[in-house]
Amino acid sequence: MGDFMDIKDMPKIVLHLHLDGSIDILDARKWSREDGFEFTKKELLNELQVSDDCHSLNDYLEKFTLPCKLLQTCERLEICSYHLFMRLARMNVLYAEVRFAPMKHLEKNLNLDDVVISVVNGMNKASVDAGIMGGIILSMMRGDAKEDNLNVINIAKKYLGRGVVAVDLAGAESVYPTRDYIDLFRYANSLGIPYTIHAGEAAGVDSINAAMDAKTKRIGHGIRCIDDKRVEKEIIDNEILLEVCVTSNYQTEAIKGSHPIEKLYRDGVKINISTDNDTVSNIDINKEYERILNETNLTINDLWKCNRNSIDYIFANQEIKDKLKKEFEN
Ligand SMILES: [Zn+2]
Repeated sequence: MGDFMDIKDMPKIVLHLHLDGSIDILDARKWSREDGFEFTKKELLNELQVSDDCHSLNDYLEKFTLPCKLLQTCERLEICSYHLFMRLARMNVLYAEVRFAPMKHLEKNLNLDDVVISVVNGMNKASVDAGIMGGIILSMMRGDAKEDNLNVINIAKKYLGRGVVAVDLAGAESVYPTRDYIDLFRYANSLGIPYTIHAGEAAGVDSINAAMDAKTKRIGHGIRCIDDKRVEKEIIDNEILLEVCVTSNYQTEAIKGSHPIEKLYRDGVKINISTDNDTVSNIDINKEYERILNETNLTINDLWKCNRNSIDYIFANQEIKDKLKKEFEN
């Protein structure tokens, strides 16, 4: 296993990454012009990336406005997905799960089938061109009508096993408590759809407890379990995977002081390291790994173990898991 000289050479598994928040900046520039927005380069970056004036998840979420406005055609959705998976492949990501909220892409004349098929097509093309494997997670949104979120679950069921692998819940956690959405996950569960839930990012352990009550096996962020020993222990005992995004957590101020990733890891929490949003956070997975190596005592071998552990939690069939395990042993 991993005696890697360089983080770039290490095989990686990325499980928490938003499509719209990782839009290619050159694509965004091209599409903005086509749509008649007159941004200078600096203005465009300001629309797409957080700066020092980001102090909360709600500030952070503002950066999704422009990408959603631009991603309203099949062609753009497919290109956005393709470019993201190709970029991940170049960073030696072997498997990635990319998520997005399909209801946000119905402003012009697309329907849910168009939207989902386009994003899956982009992934599949990258898979052919670069060998990267992956799946698409469909995010329900906090604050959306129940009807809309049910539509997301139903379209996930339709494309499950055909590119779509799971559902998720995203959005303003401090405003819309996770507990209000447990029924939706029970419904997803009854249809055999796997899921992950954003929790313990902008809200505390109540939110994590609600996610655990919904019987989730993965939690997006979940880092606020550090505030409560009992909750952290429950995560460890139930072997729940936390999808940890360090840079994003600093930007949304999900944590005060230094990030708990090392403590969580040493306590035995299963961790996948991801970036949340490459464009909004102005980061990529290799830079994120370097940051963790620089700011903690975690070693490259620890990061390798996080990746190896992540394989058991991916929303894919056993064949893909075995294939990935084999590649990690080489
Ligand atoms: Zn997220």
